Amino acid sequence: MTNESQAFLRFHHVKKTYDRRSLVVRDFTLDVRRGEFVTLLGPSGSGKTTVLMMLAGFEHVTSGEISIDGESVTRTAPYERNIGMVFQNYALFPHMTVNENLAYPLKVRKLPKSEIRQRVAQYLKLVELEDFGDRHPGQLSGGQRQRVALARALIFEPALVLLDEPLCALDKKLREQMQFEITRLHKTLGCTMVYVTHDQAEALTMSDRIAVFNHGVVQQFATPDALYERPANAFVAGFIGENNLIRGTGIANDSDVVTVSLDNATTLRATPGDFRSGQGPCLVSVRPEKLAIATPLARPSPTDNVLSARFVTQHYVGDFIRYYFELADGTRLIVKTMNDAKAPSLAEGQLTDLFWSVHHCFAFHPQSTHAVQGETP
Ligand code: ADP
Ligand code: MG
Repeated sequence: MTNESQAFLRFHHVKKTYDRRSLVVRDFTLDVRRGEFVTLLGPSGSGKTTVLMMLAGFEHVTSGEISIDGESVTRTAPYERNIGMVFQNYALFPHMTVNENLAYPLKVRKLPKSEIRQRVAQYLKLVELEDFGDRHPGQLSGGQRQRVALARALIFEPALVLLDEPLCALDKKLREQMQFEITRLHKTLGCTMVYVTHDQAEALTMSDRIAVFNHGVVQQFATPDALYERPANAFVAGFIGENNLIRGTGIANDSDVVTVSLDNATTLRATPGDFRSGQGPCLVSVRPEKLAIATPLARPSPTDNVLSARFVTQHYVGDFIRYYFELADGTRLIVKTMNDAKAPSLAEGQLTDLFWSVHHCFAFHPQSTHAVQGETP
């Protein structure tokens, strides 16, 4: 019996060392729901591929437990796990046609010939390669090859599909098209997908939830909008989207607002991120689009933070404008506003008030790499 409220895929305190000295994966715990599209996002070398390899059974788990559908697979052979896989460099069999490549996982599973034929046709159609069945992989473009690899990972209808940077080698346009294709297939087939990327835009557009990695530790596991709007720590805030960081010292903490003093004796008020003590060095973080430039038409409310900054320069980016400012101590601030009639024109060196809401501003520990598990949506 499967229990829908229970995690479909569970990592429980998984650790991994390759050299018996340093832990590549320090302490990985994650629950994935049935049918979910979950992305592991992190910088290169943060242990994402290692986690997928342990899940697939190609690497031993040093300690901890991995279970699928309530059953431990930690000591199960890869072929017994019945997982579909697409890797960045997962070569198709070059001597086989597309049809033969797709038929292969079904032959191994000893499906009847008629069913194999029918399924190959069905999955070729699903990835829009109906007319390419007789070609060899060498006669396909990179995008077409990756679609065949995707179809081959899905054709035996595994409940769990792993994708490790599958779009890495494709150019931007093709990558975006394939992102759309993969999420469409995920919705059509209803399987659970674990996707790995170092590309935050890709993670944000494709995923139900994202686990942000650093040094093999999950920094936050949450929905794309929660990661962006309520980052758990300075690492997540910096890794997902752009943000301004202002160094300060926490001086008071009352009713969910931290008061932060800057060197020039200005004070700011911030929502506590992982800086809950309210005392000592901290970083105040605010996104460029949440900052506003004070003008006669746009004034701060009495509860807003206000900071005086010197205008440096501005860049037109078509639909919006990026303004660059500097504080007295040299801290750079970026303000992003819509390119419309209200966009102010400033003179170089002009002292200007910038303002923003306490709700859009977080206080973080200066260096936070400790594990934080996000709320579920
Ligand atoms: P990511 O996929 O996030 O880039 P990896 O899981 O590939 O990270 O690698 C994490 C760390 O483990 C890196 O420091 C890498 O050099 C090391 N590593 C990966 N695979 C092996 C291996 N087979 N043997 C030894 N070290 C490895
Ligand atoms: Mg990798």
